[in-house]
Amino acid sequence: MIEVQHLAKSYGPTVALRDVSFKVDKGEVVGFLGPNAAGKTTTMRILTCYLPADSGRVSVAGYDVFEHPLEVRKQLGYLPENTPLYLDMGVIEYLHFVAEIRHIPNGKRQARIKEIVGICGLQSVVHKDIGELSKGFRQRVGLAQALIHDPEILILDEPTIGLDPIQIIEIRELIKRIGKEKTVILSSHILPEVSATCDRVIIINEGEIVGTGTPEELATKSKGGETIYATIRGPIDVIRKRLDEESDIKDFVEVGQEQENGHQFKIQSDVGVDIREKLFFLVANNGWSLIELRRETMNLEDVFKRLTIKEQT
Ligand code: ATP
Repeated sequence: MIEVQHLAKSYGPTVALRDVSFKVDKGEVVGFLGPNAAGKTTTMRILTCYLPADSGRVSVAGYDVFEHPLEVRKQLGYLPENTPLYLDMGVIEYLHFVAEIRHIPNGKRQARIKEIVGICGLQSVVHKDIGELSKGFRQRVGLAQALIHDPEILILDEPTIGLDPIQIIEIRELIKRIGKEKTVILSSHILPEVSATCDRVIIINEGEIVGTGTPEELATKSKGGETIYATIRGPIDVIRKRLDEESDIKDFVEVGQEQENGHQFKIQSDVGVDIREKLFFLVANNGWSLIELRRETMNLEDVFKRLTIKEQT
C-alpha cells in the first residue's frame, strides 16, 4: 500500500532523512516511532506530497508521490502535527468546506458529514465554533477532515500531542476503531501510544530506520538472543558441567551469591531457541530441584532505548 525506498532529505546543512526505506501493507496500523528530530514529520510530509524529497521513491496505493501527487492525495487523509483549523468557523460549516474541497458531490455531502460526525463522536459539538472546542474535540475535527473523503490510507502525525489523559484514551480508541478498516501510519514519540494502537512499529532515529517489527519481534531481535534465569538446587560442580555440555546453551553465568534455595544462573541461547523445557528435564533427570525458571522479557521501552541511544553508550 505504501512503499518508501531510499528516501533522503536535508534542510540546508541539516540532514533530516539519510536513507529511509519501509513498506506498509493494506490494513496495517503502523507506528512510526522516534525521538524528537528523528525525521518523523519530514517523512509524513513527503508521503502526503507536502514536501519534495532530495532523492528516493515513494509510492502510495500504486501511485508515485512525485509524479502523481493529485492521485496520491485522493487516496489519503492527513492529520498534520498542528491541524490548521479555522477557529471562527462552525464545526459543520468547516466539514462542508472540507467536503467541497475533497470534491464530494453536493447531493452526498450532507449524508457523509452526518456519517463522519458519528464516526468521530462530534454529535455534541456540531453547533459550536471550532474556537470554542477543547483540544480533544479539535483533534476529532482534525480526524473528521482527514476521513471525510473516505480515504484508504490515514497518516496521523502525533495525533494525541497536547491532549489530557482522558482525551488521549478517547482519541486512541477512535484510531483503533478507524484502523479496523483503513491503513494507518501514526507517528509518535510516546511508546505506550504505539503499543496501544499499532500492529507494527517502525523505529526511526537520526533520519534512519533502526528497527521494524511487532513490539515482540523487536524485543527479540534487539536482545540478540534469549535469556533465561534458572535457580537450581543441586551439586554446583555437576550443574556447571552439565550446562556446559548442553549444545543449545550459548553461554551461562552464575548470578549473585549461592543461596539457601539454590544457585541462580543467567543462561543465554540463540534467538528463537527456548531452552526452558530442556532445562526442566536436565534438572529432573539429574534429581536436582528447579526453584525458579524465568524468561527475560523486554518491553518496547527497553528496545527503543537500545536502538536509539546505543551510539552514546
Ligand atoms: P519531533 O518529534 O520533534 O516533531 P520529528 O521526528 O518529527 O521530530 P522532523 O520534524 O522531521 O523530526 O525534523 C528532522 C530534522 O530536520 C530536525 O533536525 C529538524 O530540526 C530539521 N527540520 C525539520 N523541518 C525543518 C525546516 N523546515 N527547516 C530546517 N530544518 C528543519
